[in-house]
Parts: sequence; structure tokens; C-alpha cells
Amino acid sequence: MDEKLVDIYDEVLQRNPGEQEFHQAVQEVLNSLGPVVAKHPQYADAAVFRRLCEPERQIIFRVPWVDDEGQVQINRGFRVEFNSALGPYKGGLRFHPSVYLGIVKFLGFEQIFKNSLTGMPIGGGKGGSDFDPKGRSDGEVMRFCQSFMTELYRHIGEYTDVPAGDIGVGGREIGYLFGQYKRITNRYESGVLTGKGLSWGGSQVRTEATGYGTVFFVEEILRDRKDSLDGKRVVVSGSGNVAVYAIQKVQQLGGTVVACSDSSGYVVDEAGIDLALLRDVKEVRRARISAYAEERPDARLVEGGSVWDVPCDIALPCATQNELNGKDAATLARNGCTIVAEGANMPCTPEAVDVLAEAGVTFAPGKAVNAGGVATSALEMQQNASRDSWTFQHTEDRLAEIMRGIHERCLTTADEYGSPGDYSAGANISGFIRVADAMLALGVV
Ligand code: NDP
Repeated sequence: MDEKLVDIYDEVLQRNPGEQEFHQAVQEVLNSLGPVVAKHPQYADAAVFRRLCEPERQIIFRVPWVDDEGQVQINRGFRVEFNSALGPYKGGLRFHPSVYLGIVKFLGFEQIFKNSLTGMPIGGGKGGSDFDPKGRSDGEVMRFCQSFMTELYRHIGEYTDVPAGDIGVGGREIGYLFGQYKRITNRYESGVLTGKGLSWGGSQVRTEATGYGTVFFVEEILRDRKDSLDGKRVVVSGSGNVAVYAIQKVQQLGGTVVACSDSSGYVVDEAGIDLALLRDVKEVRRARISAYAEERPDARLVEGGSVWDVPCDIALPCATQNELNGKDAATLARNGCTIVAEGANMPCTPEAVDVLAEAGVTFAPGKAVNAGGVATSALEMQQNASRDSWTFQHTEDRLAEIMRGIHERCLTTADEYGSPGDYSAGANISGFIRVADAMLALGVV
């Protein structure tokens, strides 16, 4: 790390004790910014690096609700409004028992650079709760969402902060959240949330966007090598929103996804994952991945192992942070994997990234690879603002064009700053410069 940035990183460690994921995300970005410090002293002079590491606003609140047994439950809600130099704060809400301030801050920090990289007018933020939707009835999820929004509504708005989904927050939860926002404010303000249903202000392709965008990015990497997805063996981790649509797009483009997972284990299906069955298990029945294996006689269920033990040409981690470690990276490389592209946020540990680099495996970071989700959210905001709705094909074409642009920007910037082919350096530097220039222009605010 550049010596000017070491002090800033130390300050982040001191000011944010115990927030390991946040430290990791900041370190990863600062590690790339050395060449920027040297070339553009104006950023350090205006304390842009230090200002970027401190969220503009952090909101923590109590979320009380009543479960089906009549018991009062208490969760904690968060919204970290990290940076609004480029536009209203934008980023998802995560409902998962592991959520605490350090996770929300890591995600919000990543979101600043990701959103900048899309070239769209959106700032960075993230939120969520330690609420666990697993095993909860629809009624419980609705009452939780209503209570969550009863506090959150005063902090968000079309021009202020626009949340979306993330782990544990899909179309059902966005519906309950939007319903409560509308009820409290008496405004049909479509642009206050993205990921809405198609009949009430949502955009075509938003549901598919993160997974599809991930695969479009991989297609670009392959195109550069004069290759394609046709005939490739792919392993995807997770079986949620991002994973399902990554699997679908790989299949459409001629690849075979031979394994996927959830937090209870993984399935290997050499014939290719049966997507209709997977969706029925995960989206309709909200069951465990073992239910998939029970209905596919040739599929194998592995509980407790690592999905990265399954040999593949391309690995797409699409579940959660730090799910692919150094050992997994070494196994992937040994088995002939040539591309690891992050559909999830920060799924590869720093050690895994180093192992992949040493082994010559192309690594593409989440803030570039999975940016199609937020980019399509920005397209949803555009449609809401103009009271328009575009066709699926038109929206998917826009998404593909945006992903090509992000890929191109990563490579051009990496070249320009002396790290040809380094997607992380390209994404971090390119994302940083756009937001840093806006911060300079807006003064010390
Ligand atoms: P979902 O809740 O739809 O799915 C998450 C999947 O990951 C599930 O299969 C879940 O398994 C698994 N998972 C979650 N936590 C863990 C864990 N601790 N260990 C093992 N498996 C786990 O979330 P999304 O698909 O929306 O999000 C996946 C990733 O993509 C996250 O990193 C998110 O931040 C990122 N992302 C999502 C975007 C979006 O548009 N949704 C946009 C950009 C990034 P189980 O059901 O057993 O918990």
C-alpha cells in the first residue's frame, strides 16, 4: 500500500474497531490506489481518500414486531448512507442473521465504486437487518418489513436514498416495504425503491440483472481471448437471485453449470442443473438444496464440503462474502479453472485473490462483475421518472451494453495505470476517479 494511504488505513482500523469486513474492503481498494496518489496529488490535498472512508450518515434503529405466536421480537435495522457525490445513495437491503454494522459498511463502501463504475448518476449506500427470514411465515415477514419501513421511510426518497434487494430481500420483501412506504407517506413514489414487481413500477430484467450481468462480463473476458462460453463447465455457488439467473444465462449461451449450493451444502449434477426444479425448490417451496438432489436421481448432494472442489473451467461465486478461500483457489487452479468472476460481493478472501493471481487464473472483482444489478436499478429509476416501461429485449440490450462498457473501462484504466489485465486495479481506480472528481467539484461537504 502507498505510504500516504497506510496512515489512512490505520485510522480506519482505529475508528471502526471489530468491523473486519469493512477493513478488508477498504484495504482492497486502497491497495490499488497507489498510482493515483502519485499521479493526482489534488485528491490527497483535499482529503478525498479520508473522506471516502467515513460514511456521510449511519442510521441504526430498533425493529420491533410480533411473531405468529404473539411474541414480541426485536431486531436491529441499519442504513449506511456512504457517499452521495454522484447521485442519491443507492444500494440494497440485506436481511440475514449475520448482519451488523461492519457488514453494512463493507457493502456500502463497495457500492460507491461499483455505482461510479456504471457511469450512472447514483451514490453509494447499503442497509439491512439481522432478521432471519428463513422459516418465517409470509405474515411474519410482512410485519417485520412494515416495522422496518416505519423507521426507514424518513431517511429515504427518490432524490435522497433508493434501497433495493440483497440477500434475504427479494420481490416479496420489496413489495411489503413499498406498501408501507406508500401508506405512511400517502405518495405513490415509485422511484423510492427498486426491484419492484412489474405491475407496480418495476423494470423488466431487474430480477435477472445481476446474474445475467455477471455472465455478460465473463463473455467479454472470453471474447478478449477469442473464446466463448460454448461447451464450458461452470460451477456457481449459491442458489438465490444472483445464482439462479447466472445459471440461466450460462445455459442460454451454451455452457453447462454442473454444481450449485446453499448454506447447507452443494449439489453436483453432471447433466447440468435443472433450473426449473432448482427454482421450484428455492423460490416456490423455499426449501433446502437437498430437496433438489432427492428429485434428481443422478445428482449428488454433498453436505459440509466445498463446492469449489468440483472441477470446472469457470467459477462464479454468487452466495456471500469470504466464501472462497486460499485453499479453494488452489484447488480451482489445480483443476484447470481459468476464470473466477465474483457474482457476490467480496466472496474471495484476499488470500484467494493472491493464489489466483500467482496461478495465472483471471480474477474479476464483484464491483465490476455484479454491477449489472444496480445498473438495471438505475434503469428502473429512469423508467419511473419518465413514467415509462421498456420491453425485456430493450432493457437486456441496455444491460449488455453497460457490462461491455464496464469491462472496457476496467481494462483501459488498468493499462493506463500500469497494471495491464488487472481487473481489480482497473475497477478500483476507474470507480475512484469518477467519484473523487465529483467530490472535488462539490467542495468540502
Ligand atoms: P439471495 O438471498 O437471493 O441468495 C443468497 C444465496 O447465498 C442463497 O443460496 C444462500 O443460501 C447463500 N448464502 C447466503 N449466505 C450464506 C452463507 N453465509 N454461507 C453460505 N451460503 C450463503 O441473495 P442474492 O442472490 O441477492 O445475493 C447473493 C450475493 O450477491 C450477495 O453477496 C449480494 O450482496 C450480491 N449481490 C446481489 C445483488 C442483487 O441484485 N440481488 C446485486 C449485487 C450483488 P441459504 O438460502 O442457505 O441462506
